[in-house]
Amino acid sequence: MSEIHLKSLAHSYDKTASGSQVYALREMNHVWEQGGAYALLGPSGCGKSTLLNIISGLLTPSSGEVRFDGKVVNHLSPQERNIAQVFQFPVIYDSMTVFDNLAFPLRNMKMAEAKVISRVHDIANILELHPLLKRKARNLTADEKQKVSMGRGLVRDDVSAILFDEPLTVIDPQLKWKLRRKLKQIHEQFELTMIYVTHDQLEASTFADKIAVMYDGKIVQFGTPRELFENPKHTFVGYFIGSPGMNLFSVQRTEGGVRFADVSIPLETSKQKLLDDLPQTNIKIGIRPEFIHVWNKPTTDAFECQVQHIEDLGTYKILTLTLGEHTIKARLGEDHLPPEQVAYISFPEQWLKLYVDEYLVEDTMLDSDITITHGEQSITQKHISTEVNRHA
Ligand code: ADP
Ligand code: MG
Repeated sequence: MSEIHLKSLAHSYDKTASGSQVYALREMNHVWEQGGAYALLGPSGCGKSTLLNIISGLLTPSSGEVRFDGKVVNHLSPQERNIAQVFQFPVIYDSMTVFDNLAFPLRNMKMAEAKVISRVHDIANILELHPLLKRKARNLTADEKQKVSMGRGLVRDDVSAILFDEPLTVIDPQLKWKLRRKLKQIHEQFELTMIYVTHDQLEASTFADKIAVMYDGKIVQFGTPRELFENPKHTFVGYFIGSPGMNLFSVQRTEGGVRFADVSIPLETSKQKLLDDLPQTNIKIGIRPEFIHVWNKPTTDAFECQVQHIEDLGTYKILTLTLGEHTIKARLGEDHLPPEQVAYISFPEQWLKLYVDEYLVEDTMLDSDITITHGEQSITQKHISTEVNRHA
Protein backbone atom coordinates (compact mmCIF):
# COMPACT_ATOMS: atom_id res chain seq x y z
CA MET A 1 0.00 0.00 0.00
CA SER A 2 1.32 3.35 -0.96
CA GLU A 3 0.78 7.03 -0.81
CA ILE A 4 0.40 8.22 -4.41
CA HIS A 5 1.64 11.68 -5.18
CA LEU A 6 0.99 13.35 -8.54
CA LYS A 7 3.45 16.17 -9.00
CA SER A 8 2.99 18.83 -11.72
CA LEU A 9 1.32 16.13 -13.76
CA ALA A 10 -0.10 16.95 -17.20
CA HIS A 11 -0.99 14.95 -20.26
CA SER A 12 -1.72 15.58 -23.91
CA TYR A 13 -2.46 12.75 -26.36
CA ASP A 14 -1.42 15.10 -29.13
CA LYS A 15 2.34 14.72 -29.48
CA THR A 16 2.79 16.76 -32.66
CA ALA A 17 1.22 20.15 -31.98
CA SER A 18 3.22 22.65 -30.02
CA GLY A 19 1.99 25.63 -28.10
CA SER A 20 -1.74 25.10 -28.55
CA GLN A 21 -1.82 21.48 -27.34
CA VAL A 22 -5.07 19.98 -26.26
CA TYR A 23 -4.60 18.75 -22.71
CA ALA A 24 -6.56 15.74 -21.49
CA LEU A 25 -5.04 16.54 -18.08
CA ARG A 26 -4.05 20.05 -17.11
CA GLU A 27 -1.17 20.50 -14.72
CA MET A 28 -2.14 19.13 -11.34
CA ASN A 29 -0.70 18.34 -7.95
CA HIS A 30 -2.49 15.79 -5.86
CA VAL A 31 -1.90 13.32 -3.04
CA TRP A 32 -3.84 10.10 -2.48
CA GLU A 33 -2.95 9.04 1.03
CA GLN A 34 -2.08 5.50 1.93
CA GLY A 35 -5.09 3.34 2.76
CA GLY A 36 -7.76 5.83 1.68
CA ALA A 37 -11.03 4.98 -0.10
CA TYR A 38 -11.29 7.57 -2.83
CA ALA A 39 -13.58 8.32 -5.72
CA LEU A 40 -12.65 10.21 -8.85
CA LEU A 41 -15.91 11.72 -10.04
CA GLY A 42 -16.62 13.63 -13.22
CA PRO A 43 -18.51 13.62 -16.51
CA SER A 44 -17.52 11.56 -19.51
CA GLY A 45 -14.41 12.89 -21.27
CA CYS A 46 -13.04 14.92 -18.32
CA GLY A 47 -9.89 12.80 -18.07
CA LYS A 48 -10.65 10.19 -15.39
CA SER A 49 -9.38 7.16 -17.31
CA THR A 50 -6.35 9.11 -18.50
CA LEU A 51 -5.45 9.90 -14.88
CA LEU A 52 -5.99 6.32 -13.73
CA ASN A 53 -3.90 4.89 -16.59
CA ILE A 54 -1.08 7.27 -15.74
CA ILE A 55 -1.13 6.12 -12.12
CA SER A 56 -1.09 2.45 -13.11
CA GLY A 57 1.60 2.97 -15.74
CA LEU A 58 -0.43 2.04 -18.83
CA LEU A 59 0.17 5.58 -20.04
CA THR A 60 3.25 7.80 -19.77
CA PRO A 61 2.41 11.41 -18.83
CA SER A 62 3.61 14.25 -21.09
CA SER A 63 5.05 15.98 -18.05
CA GLY A 64 5.29 15.72 -14.30
CA GLU A 65 5.87 12.87 -11.89
CA VAL A 66 4.00 9.99 -10.33
CA ARG A 67 5.49 9.09 -6.94
CA PHE A 68 4.68 6.10 -4.77
CA ASP A 69 5.77 6.66 -1.16
CA GLY A 70 8.04 9.46 -2.35
CA LYS A 71 9.74 7.44 -5.11
CA VAL A 72 9.31 8.46 -8.74
CA VAL A 73 7.75 5.54 -10.67
CA ASN A 74 7.36 7.15 -14.13
CA HIS A 75 9.79 4.69 -15.68
CA LEU A 76 8.25 1.59 -14.04
CA SER A 77 5.88 -0.79 -15.87
CA PRO A 78 2.41 -1.56 -14.43
CA GLN A 79 3.75 -4.88 -13.06
CA GLU A 80 6.68 -3.18 -11.39
CA ARG A 81 4.35 -0.61 -9.86
CA ASN A 82 2.39 -3.44 -8.32
CA ILE A 83 -1.02 -1.95 -9.02
CA ALA A 84 -4.27 -3.82 -9.60
CA GLN A 85 -6.69 -2.25 -12.05
CA VAL A 86 -10.29 -3.22 -12.77
CA PHE A 87 -11.74 -1.90 -16.02
CA GLN A 88 -15.23 -1.05 -17.23
CA PHE A 89 -15.49 -4.32 -19.16
CA PRO A 90 -14.35 -7.74 -17.92
CA VAL A 91 -10.73 -8.71 -18.51
CA ILE A 92 -10.64 -12.47 -17.92
CA TYR A 93 -9.41 -15.64 -19.59
CA ASP A 94 -12.45 -17.25 -21.22
CA SER A 95 -10.91 -20.70 -21.49
CA MET A 96 -9.97 -20.88 -17.79
CA THR A 97 -12.27 -21.76 -14.91
CA VAL A 98 -13.36 -19.02 -12.52
CA PHE A 99 -11.03 -20.50 -9.90
CA ASP A 100 -8.02 -20.35 -12.24
CA ASN A 101 -8.89 -16.81 -13.28
CA LEU A 102 -8.89 -15.71 -9.65
CA ALA A 103 -5.74 -17.69 -8.90
CA PHE A 104 -3.87 -16.30 -11.90
CA PRO A 105 -2.46 -13.09 -10.34
CA LEU A 106 -1.34 -15.09 -7.27
CA ARG A 107 0.29 -17.95 -9.22
CA ASN A 108 1.97 -15.30 -11.34
CA MET A 109 3.75 -14.03 -8.24
CA LYS A 110 4.69 -17.63 -7.32
CA MET A 111 2.55 -17.81 -4.22
CA ALA A 112 2.44 -21.26 -2.56
CA GLU A 113 -0.58 -23.21 -3.84
CA ALA A 114 -2.09 -23.72 -0.37
CA LYS A 115 -2.13 -19.98 0.13
CA VAL A 116 -3.53 -19.45 -3.37
CA ILE A 117 -6.45 -21.74 -2.56
CA SER A 118 -7.20 -19.96 0.69
CA ARG A 119 -7.02 -16.48 -0.88
CA VAL A 120 -9.23 -17.46 -3.84
CA HIS A 121 -11.82 -18.87 -1.45
CA ASP A 122 -11.77 -15.67 0.63
CA ILE A 123 -12.44 -13.50 -2.41
CA ALA A 124 -15.00 -15.93 -3.86
CA ASN A 125 -16.81 -15.75 -0.52
CA ILE A 126 -16.94 -11.98 -0.47
CA LEU A 127 -18.09 -11.70 -4.10
CA GLU A 128 -20.40 -14.73 -3.85
CA LEU A 129 -18.60 -16.55 -6.63
CA HIS A 130 -18.39 -19.93 -4.86
CA PRO A 131 -21.04 -21.71 -6.95
CA LEU A 132 -19.16 -20.67 -10.11
CA LEU A 133 -15.60 -21.61 -9.20
CA LYS A 134 -15.47 -24.72 -11.40
CA ARG A 135 -17.22 -23.15 -14.39
CA LYS A 136 -15.38 -21.99 -17.50
CA ALA A 137 -15.41 -18.20 -17.64
CA ARG A 138 -16.79 -18.16 -21.18
CA ASN A 139 -20.10 -19.59 -19.96
CA LEU A 140 -20.78 -16.80 -17.48
CA THR A 141 -23.20 -13.87 -17.80
CA ALA A 142 -21.80 -10.34 -18.27
CA ASP A 143 -22.45 -9.62 -14.56
CA GLU A 144 -20.67 -12.74 -13.44
CA LYS A 145 -17.70 -12.07 -15.71
CA GLN A 146 -17.30 -8.59 -14.26
CA LYS A 147 -17.43 -9.98 -10.74
CA VAL A 148 -14.60 -12.35 -11.66
CA SER A 149 -12.72 -9.42 -13.17
CA MET A 150 -13.14 -7.52 -9.90
CA GLY A 151 -12.07 -10.59 -7.97
CA ARG A 152 -8.84 -10.71 -9.99
CA GLY A 153 -8.20 -7.11 -8.96
CA LEU A 154 -8.94 -7.76 -5.31
CA VAL A 155 -7.27 -11.12 -4.79
CA ARG A 156 -3.76 -9.85 -4.05
CA ASP A 157 -3.24 -8.16 -0.72
CA ASP A 158 0.28 -6.92 -1.47
CA VAL A 159 -0.60 -4.32 -4.11
CA SER A 160 0.28 -0.62 -3.82
CA ALA A 161 -3.27 0.33 -4.75
CA ILE A 162 -6.39 -0.90 -6.53
CA LEU A 163 -7.81 1.28 -9.26
CA PHE A 164 -11.38 0.80 -10.47
CA ASP A 165 -12.44 2.41 -13.74
CA GLU A 166 -16.27 2.51 -13.75
CA PRO A 167 -16.32 -1.19 -12.83
CA LEU A 168 -20.08 -1.49 -12.37
CA THR A 169 -21.13 -0.23 -15.81
CA VAL A 170 -22.24 -3.67 -17.05
CA ILE A 171 -23.75 -4.73 -13.73
CA ASP A 172 -27.51 -4.53 -13.18
CA PRO A 173 -28.76 -1.87 -10.69
CA GLN A 174 -29.70 -4.29 -7.87
CA LEU A 175 -26.35 -6.00 -7.89
CA LYS A 176 -24.56 -2.67 -8.32
CA TRP A 177 -25.70 -1.52 -4.94
CA LYS A 178 -24.62 -4.77 -3.34
CA LEU A 179 -21.19 -4.78 -4.98
CA ARG A 180 -20.53 -1.21 -3.95
CA ARG A 181 -21.17 -2.20 -0.32
CA LYS A 182 -18.85 -5.18 -0.78
CA LEU A 183 -16.05 -3.00 -2.10
CA LYS A 184 -16.43 -0.73 0.89
CA GLN A 185 -16.30 -3.78 3.16
CA ILE A 186 -13.17 -5.04 1.42
CA HIS A 187 -11.60 -1.63 1.88
CA GLU A 188 -12.36 -1.65 5.59
CA GLN A 189 -11.07 -5.18 5.99
CA PHE A 190 -7.79 -4.84 4.08
CA GLU A 191 -7.10 -1.08 4.31
CA LEU A 192 -5.94 -0.90 0.71
CA THR A 193 -5.56 2.40 -1.12
CA MET A 194 -8.49 2.37 -3.52
CA ILE A 195 -9.38 4.85 -6.24
CA TYR A 196 -12.79 4.36 -7.74
CA VAL A 197 -13.67 6.18 -10.97
CA THR A 198 -17.30 6.98 -11.68
CA HIS A 199 -19.56 9.60 -13.23
CA ASP A 200 -22.27 8.82 -10.65
CA GLN A 201 -22.30 10.98 -7.50
CA LEU A 202 -24.26 8.41 -5.51
CA GLU A 203 -21.78 5.69 -6.41
CA ALA A 204 -18.92 8.00 -5.42
CA SER A 205 -20.38 8.96 -2.06
CA THR A 206 -21.38 5.43 -1.02
CA PHE A 207 -17.91 4.12 -1.74
CA ALA A 208 -15.52 6.91 -0.87
CA ASP A 209 -14.50 8.83 2.23
CA LYS A 210 -13.14 11.57 0.00
CA ILE A 211 -14.08 12.46 -3.54
CA ALA A 212 -11.95 14.21 -6.16
CA VAL A 213 -14.25 16.01 -8.56
CA MET A 214 -12.77 16.31 -12.01
CA TYR A 215 -13.79 18.75 -14.69
CA ASP A 216 -12.11 19.55 -17.97
CA GLY A 217 -8.83 17.82 -17.16
CA LYS A 218 -8.52 19.21 -13.64
CA ILE A 219 -9.34 18.15 -10.10
CA VAL A 220 -11.48 21.12 -9.07
CA GLN A 221 -12.18 19.94 -5.52
CA PHE A 222 -11.08 17.15 -3.20
CA GLY A 223 -13.27 16.68 -0.17
CA THR A 224 -15.78 14.63 1.78
CA PRO A 225 -19.27 14.30 0.26
CA ARG A 226 -20.42 16.80 2.87
CA GLU A 227 -17.74 19.36 1.99
CA LEU A 228 -18.65 19.09 -1.70
CA PHE A 229 -22.26 19.66 -0.82
CA GLU A 230 -21.88 22.46 1.70
CA ASN A 231 -18.96 24.36 0.27
CA PRO A 232 -18.43 23.78 -3.46
CA LYS A 233 -15.08 25.33 -4.38
CA HIS A 234 -15.95 25.53 -8.07
CA THR A 235 -19.25 26.21 -9.85
CA PHE A 236 -18.96 22.83 -11.55
CA VAL A 237 -19.01 21.06 -8.16
CA GLY A 238 -22.12 23.07 -7.25
CA TYR A 239 -23.80 22.11 -10.47
CA PHE A 240 -22.70 18.47 -10.65
CA ILE A 241 -23.25 17.43 -7.01
CA GLY A 242 -26.77 17.49 -5.63
CA SER A 243 -30.11 16.84 -7.23
CA PRO A 244 -31.02 19.31 -8.54
CA GLY A 245 -27.64 21.05 -8.46
CA MET A 246 -26.79 24.47 -7.09
CA ASN A 247 -28.60 27.55 -8.41
CA LEU A 248 -25.97 29.71 -10.11
CA PHE A 249 -26.47 33.23 -11.46
CA SER A 250 -24.18 35.59 -13.31
CA VAL A 251 -24.20 38.91 -11.49
CA GLN A 252 -22.83 42.43 -11.78
CA ARG A 253 -21.18 44.43 -9.02
CA THR A 254 -23.18 47.14 -7.30
CA GLU A 255 -22.65 49.36 -4.31
CA GLY A 256 -22.72 47.00 -1.31
CA GLY A 257 -23.44 43.82 -3.23
CA VAL A 258 -24.28 42.29 -6.56
CA ARG A 259 -27.21 42.46 -8.92
CA PHE A 260 -28.84 40.18 -11.44
CA ALA A 261 -31.78 41.21 -13.66
CA ASP A 262 -33.44 43.81 -11.42
CA VAL A 263 -32.70 42.01 -8.19
CA SER A 264 -30.08 43.47 -5.85
CA ILE A 265 -28.40 41.12 -3.45
CA PRO A 266 -26.50 42.70 -0.59
CA LEU A 267 -23.28 40.96 0.45
CA GLU A 268 -21.87 40.83 3.95
CA THR A 269 -18.94 43.21 4.38
CA SER A 270 -16.28 40.49 4.38
CA LYS A 271 -17.48 39.05 1.07
CA GLN A 272 -17.74 42.55 -0.38
CA LYS A 273 -14.13 43.26 0.62
CA LEU A 274 -12.89 40.07 -0.95
CA LEU A 275 -14.74 40.88 -4.14
CA ASP A 276 -13.27 44.40 -4.21
CA ASP A 277 -9.80 42.85 -4.36
CA LEU A 278 -10.56 40.85 -7.50
CA PRO A 279 -10.76 42.73 -10.81
CA GLN A 280 -12.49 39.99 -12.83
CA THR A 281 -15.91 40.48 -14.39
CA ASN A 282 -17.05 36.85 -14.42
CA ILE A 283 -18.89 36.84 -11.09
CA LYS A 284 -21.53 34.36 -10.02
CA ILE A 285 -23.51 33.68 -6.92
CA GLY A 286 -24.62 30.19 -5.99
CA ILE A 287 -27.04 28.70 -3.51
CA ARG A 288 -28.24 25.14 -3.17
CA PRO A 289 -32.01 24.42 -3.44
CA GLU A 290 -31.89 22.91 0.07
CA PHE A 291 -30.64 26.16 1.65
CA ILE A 292 -33.13 28.64 0.19
CA HIS A 293 -35.71 29.87 2.69
CA VAL A 294 -39.23 29.82 1.29
CA TRP A 295 -42.16 31.77 2.71
CA ASN A 296 -45.77 31.92 1.63
CA LYS A 297 -46.08 35.58 2.72
CA PRO A 298 -43.90 38.65 2.20
CA THR A 299 -41.01 38.83 4.69
CA THR A 300 -38.16 41.27 5.20
CA ASP A 301 -35.30 40.68 2.74
CA ALA A 302 -37.27 38.07 0.80
CA PHE A 303 -37.67 38.25 -2.98
CA GLU A 304 -41.00 37.70 -4.62
CA CYS A 305 -41.05 34.81 -7.11
CA GLN A 306 -43.60 33.17 -9.36
CA VAL A 307 -44.22 29.48 -8.73
CA GLN A 308 -43.89 27.62 -12.05
CA HIS A 309 -44.02 24.05 -10.96
CA ILE A 310 -44.04 21.84 -7.88
CA GLU A 311 -42.60 18.37 -8.08
CA ASP A 312 -43.68 16.12 -5.25
CA LEU A 313 -40.99 13.55 -4.50
CA GLY A 314 -42.68 12.00 -1.47
CA THR A 315 -40.56 13.12 1.44
CA TYR A 316 -39.81 16.52 -0.12
CA LYS A 317 -40.89 18.81 -2.93
CA ILE A 318 -38.87 20.65 -5.54
CA LEU A 319 -40.24 24.08 -6.40
CA THR A 320 -39.41 25.66 -9.73
CA LEU A 321 -39.62 29.43 -9.29
CA THR A 322 -38.96 32.42 -11.49
CA LEU A 323 -37.29 35.54 -10.18
CA GLY A 324 -37.21 38.12 -12.95
CA GLU A 325 -36.11 36.07 -15.92
CA HIS A 326 -34.20 33.55 -13.86
CA THR A 327 -35.30 30.08 -12.86
CA ILE A 328 -34.59 28.98 -9.31
CA LYS A 329 -35.03 25.58 -7.72
CA ALA A 330 -35.87 25.33 -4.04
CA ARG A 331 -36.40 22.26 -1.92
CA LEU A 332 -39.23 22.08 0.60
CA GLY A 333 -39.55 19.57 3.45
CA GLU A 334 -42.75 17.53 3.70
CA ASP A 335 -44.00 19.53 6.68
CA HIS A 336 -43.92 22.78 4.71
CA LEU A 337 -47.17 23.76 2.99
CA PRO A 338 -46.13 24.70 -0.56
CA PRO A 339 -46.92 28.25 -1.76
CA GLU A 340 -49.46 28.53 -4.56
CA GLN A 341 -48.73 31.15 -7.21
CA VAL A 342 -46.32 33.42 -5.43
CA ALA A 343 -43.47 32.50 -3.13
CA TYR A 344 -41.05 34.66 -1.14
CA ILE A 345 -37.49 33.46 -0.89
CA SER A 346 -34.35 34.54 0.86
CA PHE A 347 -30.75 33.44 0.74
CA PRO A 348 -29.14 32.85 4.16
CA GLU A 349 -25.68 34.51 4.14
CA GLN A 350 -23.95 31.35 5.27
CA TRP A 351 -25.13 29.44 2.21
CA LEU A 352 -24.81 32.15 -0.40
CA LYS A 353 -21.56 31.49 -2.23
CA LEU A 354 -19.61 33.89 -4.36
CA TYR A 355 -17.63 32.70 -7.40
CA VAL A 356 -15.14 34.66 -9.47
CA ASP A 357 -13.98 33.01 -12.69
CA GLU A 358 -15.87 29.91 -11.51
CA TYR A 359 -13.83 29.51 -8.28
CA LEU A 360 -15.21 30.13 -4.80
CA VAL A 361 -14.10 33.28 -3.07
CA GLU A 362 -13.74 32.71 0.63
CA ASP A 363 -11.71 33.70 3.62
CA THR A 364 -10.26 31.22 6.04
CA MET A 365 -8.47 31.83 9.31
CA LEU A 366 -4.90 30.63 9.67
CA ASP A 367 -3.60 31.66 13.08
CA SER A 368 -3.65 35.41 12.99
CA ASP A 369 -3.50 35.61 9.22
CA ILE A 370 -6.34 35.43 6.78
CA THR A 371 -5.85 33.50 3.63
CA ILE A 372 -8.03 34.55 0.79
CA THR A 373 -8.49 31.49 -1.32
CA HIS A 374 -9.35 31.82 -4.92
CA GLY A 375 -8.67 28.87 -7.20
CA GLU A 376 -5.05 27.89 -6.84
CA GLN A 377 -3.96 31.37 -5.82
CA SER A 378 -4.01 32.32 -2.21
CA ILE A 379 -3.04 35.62 -0.78
CA THR A 380 -2.14 35.77 2.88
CA GLN A 381 -2.88 39.09 4.48
CA LYS A 382 -1.38 40.04 7.81
CA HIS A 383 -2.82 42.78 10.01
CA ILE A 384 -6.19 42.53 8.40
CA SER A 385 -9.03 44.70 9.54
CA THR A 386 -11.16 43.51 12.43
CA GLU A 387 -14.14 43.62 10.08
CA VAL A 388 -12.86 40.67 8.04
CA ASN A 389 -11.59 38.99 11.18
CA ARG A 390 -14.98 38.96 12.76
CA HIS A 391 -16.59 37.24 9.82
CA ALA A 392 -13.79 34.76 9.21
P1 ADP B 1 -13.10 9.92 -19.03
O1 ADP B 1 -12.49 8.62 -18.58
O2 ADP B 1 -13.29 10.91 -17.92
O3 ADP B 1 -14.36 9.73 -19.82
P2 ADP B 1 -10.77 10.08 -20.78
O4 ADP B 1 -9.60 10.11 -19.88
O5 ADP B 1 -11.10 8.79 -21.45
O6 ADP B 1 -12.06 10.66 -20.02
O7 ADP B 1 -10.58 11.16 -21.92
C1 ADP B 1 -10.13 12.49 -21.67
C2 ADP B 1 -9.94 13.20 -23.00
O8 ADP B 1 -8.87 12.61 -23.71
C3 ADP B 1 -11.14 13.15 -23.92
O9 ADP B 1 -11.22 14.36 -24.61
C4 ADP B 1 -10.81 12.01 -24.86
O10 ADP B 1 -11.43 12.19 -26.11
C5 ADP B 1 -9.31 12.11 -24.97
N1 ADP B 1 -8.68 10.79 -25.19
C6 ADP B 1 -8.83 9.69 -24.42
N2 ADP B 1 -8.09 8.67 -24.88
C7 ADP B 1 -7.46 9.12 -25.98
C8 ADP B 1 -6.54 8.54 -26.92
N3 ADP B 1 -6.11 7.28 -26.78
N4 ADP B 1 -6.10 9.32 -27.93
C9 ADP B 1 -6.50 10.60 -28.06
N5 ADP B 1 -7.36 11.22 -27.22
C10 ADP B 1 -7.84 10.49 -26.19
MG1 MG C 1 -13.22 6.66 -18.77
